[in-house]
Amino acid sequence: MIMNEKLPSIRIDQTGYASGLPVHVAALKGGTLNVFDAEGKLVKKIDGVTPVFDQASEDKVCICDIGILYEGDYMLECGGETRKISVKKDPWQSVTNALIKGLYFQRCGCELKEKYAGRFTHPACHIAPAALWEDKNVKLTVTGGWHDAGDYGKYVGPGAVTAAHMIYAYMLCRKGCEDRINIPESGNGAPDILNEARYEIEWLLKMQREDGAFYHKLTKAQFAPFIMPQDDLMQEYLMPVSHCATAAACALLALAYRAYAKIDPVFAFKLISASVRAAEWLDANPGFVPFSNPEGVRTGQYGDGNVNDELFWASCELFASTGETKYLKAAEKYYSQGLNLTEYGWSDVSGLGAVCCLFVLKEKAGEILYDRLKEEYTEKCRRIGAISKSSGYGTALAPDKYSWGSILHIMGNAMSMILYEMLTGDTSLRNAVLLQWHYALGLNALDTCFVTGFGERPVMNIHHRPSGADGITDPVPGLISGGPNKYHPYPQTRERLADTPPAKYFLDETMSADTNEIAIYWNSPAIFVGAFFAALCK
Ligand SMILES: [Zn+2]
Repeated sequence: MIMNEKLPSIRIDQTGYASGLPVHVAALKGGTLNVFDAEGKLVKKIDGVTPVFDQASEDKVCICDIGILYEGDYMLECGGETRKISVKKDPWQSVTNALIKGLYFQRCGCELKEKYAGRFTHPACHIAPAALWEDKNVKLTVTGGWHDAGDYGKYVGPGAVTAAHMIYAYMLCRKGCEDRINIPESGNGAPDILNEARYEIEWLLKMQREDGAFYHKLTKAQFAPFIMPQDDLMQEYLMPVSHCATAAACALLALAYRAYAKIDPVFAFKLISASVRAAEWLDANPGFVPFSNPEGVRTGQYGDGNVNDELFWASCELFASTGETKYLKAAEKYYSQGLNLTEYGWSDVSGLGAVCCLFVLKEKAGEILYDRLKEEYTEKCRRIGAISKSSGYGTALAPDKYSWGSILHIMGNAMSMILYEMLTGDTSLRNAVLLQWHYALGLNALDTCFVTGFGERPVMNIHHRPSGADGITDPVPGLISGGPNKYHPYPQTRERLADTPPAKYFLDETMSADTNEIAIYWNSPAIFVGAFFAALCK
């Protein structure tokens, strides 16, 4: 992106709008917003458009609610500029499907065949046995799973939350994520979103040590250069086990047990057995030790200084799957120690435990984990709605929160507001949720669609090794960029962007991992949000 490039003064969802939902655009010039249909007839007119200062972008901007439009193409005109939008019955199913398929493109240990992958095919990668870091003579076969992000590492905690987002998307927004997406398992009787999640879960099972603990990650000692995965032949290592990885896997496997129980009871039994063994290891090893990279290891650390949120989530899911009250008691204990109930990322998974209490256990969770938790949760959601209201673009992220992977927080906050609506029936945060989804798809200070393969101005140069090394101009489709990051940028980014405001602290450049990397666990909350809207459009 050329920083001084003049961007259009009308910002839109570049993938279109739904005919059953209000249409919002952002206008950076004031006056009257006219809406013309395909025949040039004026169909709506909004007077008094008055842009106001937005702190995160330092733009003057006004969100305009055009209301409901019928299917068709429209021309918007405001302040002497025009921009075309399209309104469709169901504009976002294709985006949601692509975000799910994006995970297929991250598959490791198998060939991506042309039949499924189109131009983005490659031979099987990372199929050599892995060595145990602590005893390098021990070799184990741990193939499968998804490449985590722009690199080729595979990490248990991040993988567990990604699969959990997908399972909950299927449980709570089913109609928006039950399409076939042309993966090898399509048509096997199971929904593809669960087929895709299972590819990761099968690998997670291989990451469990005999005593029940989970290895923290399977990576090399260093990141590979920008080469294709099949050319990355450096030795992979099973890094030491960790509490956070074990507890996150324990939670996910207990959740997955319920998701796959009817599809494949034998597989589901394996999942719950592995979950219980992980819980037993956690019980027997209560002294929490945060993971840090062993000396000489430079790949992603995913070091997490707190395991209470993982233990809370695991206790909730185990109670939901086994009914054993000891897990309920444990969950109550972790809740009483204080949790961030609207966080769903790899470092804080409290929100996933909250979802289990509020949508799975419900009254069975009891007074503390249902009534009290619900009150706290809904209050936090209202506060998220207020953050969106105070932003010029309607973005539910405070100006000082644009850090690495800001898209996670924006999509996570959208998830919270969706869950609020499902929980209370109150639709007053719906427009705020829409604005987070539109943010991802182009209605933002950068006029950029953050999902590859979509929109007039999509990200093109994501930090993603296959996209950088495959010789194809277009990036691998269906991957979401982390987006602006003013608070932990690389020094070279700071040198380039200096005082650029937070919501514009972004470089669409391959080497900008700090602003333009992709990650499996950024795709997955976007899948949840997309599935919610795709379901609404049915
Ligand atoms: Zn691989």
